[in-house]
Amino acid sequence: MTHSFPNGHLFVGGEWQAGTGAEIVSVFAAEGTENMAFKGASREDVLTAIDRAKAAQSDPAWRDLKPHERATYLYRISEAIAAEVDRLSWLQSRDTSKTRTEARALVASAAATFRYFGAVLETSDDLMTASRGDYQTYSVHDPIGLVAAITPWNSPIASDAQKAAPALAAGNAVLLKPASWSPIISLELARIIEQAGLPKGLFSVLPGSGRDVGNLLVEHPEIGKVSFTGGTSTGRHLAHVAAEKLMPISLELGGKSPTIVFEDCDEDQAIAGVLFGIFSSTGQSCIAGSRLFVQRSIFDRFVAKLVQATKALKIGHPFDADTQVSSMVHADHREAVEGYVQQALDEGGEILTGGARPEGVGLDDGAYYRPTIIAGLDNSARTCREEIFGPVLVVLPFDDEDDVIAMSNDNDYGLACGIWSRDHRKCWRVARAIRAGTVWVNTYKQFSITTPFGGDGASGMGREKGRAGLRAYQRQKSIYEDHSGAPLGWARWP
Ligand code: NAD
Repeated sequence: MTHSFPNGHLFVGGEWQAGTGAEIVSVFAAEGTENMAFKGASREDVLTAIDRAKAAQSDPAWRDLKPHERATYLYRISEAIAAEVDRLSWLQSRDTSKTRTEARALVASAAATFRYFGAVLETSDDLMTASRGDYQTYSVHDPIGLVAAITPWNSPIASDAQKAAPALAAGNAVLLKPASWSPIISLELARIIEQAGLPKGLFSVLPGSGRDVGNLLVEHPEIGKVSFTGGTSTGRHLAHVAAEKLMPISLELGGKSPTIVFEDCDEDQAIAGVLFGIFSSTGQSCIAGSRLFVQRSIFDRFVAKLVQATKALKIGHPFDADTQVSSMVHADHREAVEGYVQQALDEGGEILTGGARPEGVGLDDGAYYRPTIIAGLDNSARTCREEIFGPVLVVLPFDDEDDVIAMSNDNDYGLACGIWSRDHRKCWRVARAIRAGTVWVNTYKQFSITTPFGGDGASGMGREKGRAGLRAYQRQKSIYEDHSGAPLGWARWP
């Protein structure tokens, strides 16, 4: 079923209004067509949203809500998202060229995220801590105030929800800046949040460039926390700004995640996992398993099977039910990926499969790229060190456990890792030794909102999801309250 696009108005502090900033064009890269064009947020729009957010956040109607009362908004938002899976996933596919199956999963995950953080809020306790004097000690949690959420284009509704849900649950106002390639779904989220009755001003969606809208949000003195997901160089820049302001910032950044296949693995299980880990989402995934290490004793056989299985993947239109590898998000991004493949060739790499655009009816107009496997490179090659963010896998042999741990950790990133082996003790040892925020053992790219997620090193800092995800958007305050009724002994006067 075809749905309509939103009218391109922005949600500025609870009011729908035409943006007064630079034009934003959303494209359907799978067909090389335009979805819609509209004006993004200007400096004035952002300042208006901040003023309205400040008033709404400090209004007793929001500020004084009890946790179980605030949670009802999150439950309502969750239900409203779930009720619109079809429309939302259609829009998400049009905006990002993701398959409908993947887009539906992301919408479902957004609904689950709002429900989960409603439940976390209702069941989180403040602390009465052990007293060491004639007083009671409490540790309570307050909202930070205004939170800027800045998200990338690769899983928009899920990453929007991962920030907006805990930040609203914690009692903040949220100013969301989506990526310019994928603004539509965030505007739809605003419509849903409005319909769920959230008080006006608490949520804004401000599409626009990172340089203008993003920077202004991060630098603004009223913004008390930034929650960022995106590239490492952007994250590093934002961390500098946050340091100047002494503002908390969480950074979910890029990755170059190792997948380790030991000779004692279940090979069919490993092949299915490796394929899903790198080629699902057309490789445009921060946790893509983009560096594959295979034990030398099975290297040739395993890689030959993997190449054969890769050639069998169905490349196609995102709305075809059997498509496994869809178009990339944008023709410009495909060009960037092609640049990396050329770099791999320049470094002496050998393309085992892919390395080109697919041809065929329906594919020529889209930003498609064939799943690509490259061998013959050293772990120190740029292609093995830098994030490509596309359907490109490098394969390297290893000799033993120590060898593969050293090679896996010899990289600036530390986001995720996959291990394939039937030896559970070995899996445990390797999982503990790898520097990564998430390790999958005999599976890959599985997610649960209950389980903390984040990266180390160039992959960022801070964790999202899990019960502690709520605390990332709160200030903790300790209160000492005398219960002796007696003056403190130190002060003496005649
Ligand atoms: P990006 O860094 O270019 O942009 C991310 C967001 O930051 C966008 O909204 C962008 O407009 C904004 N931005 C850019 N410059 C800014 C600035 N100076 N000030 C404020 N905001 C600014 O990243 P992208 O290309 O949109 O997304 C791809 C990257 O995101 C990849 O590196 C990927 O690994 C990473 N990512 C990480 C995770 C994770 O959870 N670790 C998840 C998804 C994507």
